[in-house]
Order: sequence, then structure tokens, then C-alpha cells
Amino acid sequence: MNAQELCPICGEGHVTDQVQMTETQYKGHKRNLPLHFKLCDSCTSDFAGAQESKQNRRELMAFHKSVDGLLTGAEITDLRKRYKLTQAQAARLFGGGPVAFSKYENDDVAQSESMDTLLRLVRRSAVAFAELVKEKCMEAEFVTEKQIASSGPKLVRVPINRFNGDRTPEIYNPREFRQFARGEVQCKP
Ligand SMILES: [Zn+2]
Repeated sequence: MNAQELCPICGEGHVTDQVQMTETQYKGHKRNLPLHFKLCDSCTSDFAGAQESKQNRRELMAFHKSVDGLLTGAEITDLRKRYKLTQAQAARLFGGGPVAFSKYENDDVAQSESMDTLLRLVRRSAVAFAELVKEKCMEAEFVTEKQIASSGPKLVRVPINRFNGDRTPEIYNPREFRQFARGEVQCKP
């Protein structure tokens, strides 16, 4: 970042941030990943400092996750934000320890296959999310949207993080969904 940063090797030149696409292989899959490093304008040394090494490790981990069929850090962030969860809440809900989600989302570590399965289940189904909230006795942290007209179909109440303000609740009706899947209900024009 800092163009005036002195080269730690020769102590005279200045280093600049460089990125070079580099082909990487994992389990027979090839991909070009950005390789971050610093380059000295005097002694022409190139090296990765702590920051570059961290970025490179994260790029590599994201690639490994995608080859292994695991959700990437960005996908986990999307899922967590969809349910308006803090990272701490996500850790209590799904497990993994207090800093687990920071590590998953930054691609510092890969989540286990069982964690990945649970995350995918919740990503697929707001009902699964609601059941998990109950299972972990975290209902007090969420508000649920009101039941609609008693004569109508029973609606599943989807928890919403009460600390995150206004949000239009998602309404998911499993019976209607099954009917739709069987072709008994048509999409409204
Ligand atoms: Zn140098």
C-alpha cells in the first residue's frame, strides 16, 4: 500500500505491492489464483510479508473449499447476513467456537463437512433455521412475525434477529410448497 515502504532486504529501495496470476493445482483441478507479493525497485527482491502471506493462504483455502464442495467464506457470509445473525450468534447457533465464523468467512479455515451440511440445510430452508433457533433455546433473541388470518393456511413463523431492526419477514408455507411441488398449486400470474 505504502509506496514509500523501505525494502527490508537491501534497506535502500522501496517496495510496491504486486499481484500475479499463478496457476495452482489441487486434487487434479487447476485454477489461476492471484499471488500477492512485494517487489523492491532497487535490489529487485520479491517476497511475501505477513499480510501478503495471509491473503495468499486465503485465496488458496477458498479454492480448496470449492474443489472439496464446501461453501466458500463469501457464501457463508451471505447466509449469515440473510438471517441477520452476528458472527457470535452464528457460532452459538451452529457451533464451532466463538471465532469460528470469522475464520470460515475469511477463508482462514475450512469448516467440517458436518458443519457445511448444517449450513446448507439452513440456507435451503427458513423452517430449518427456525427449528435450530428453538433447539438452541435462542428464541428470546428473535422476534417472529405474526400469524396471519386464522382461516387461512397455517404459516410458519420465521425468526428474525431482534437486534437488527426492521425487516420484512419471509413467509414459508410448507404445505403450499409441497402442493406446488406436486403441481396442485400454480404460480399466480
Ligand atoms: Zn531491496
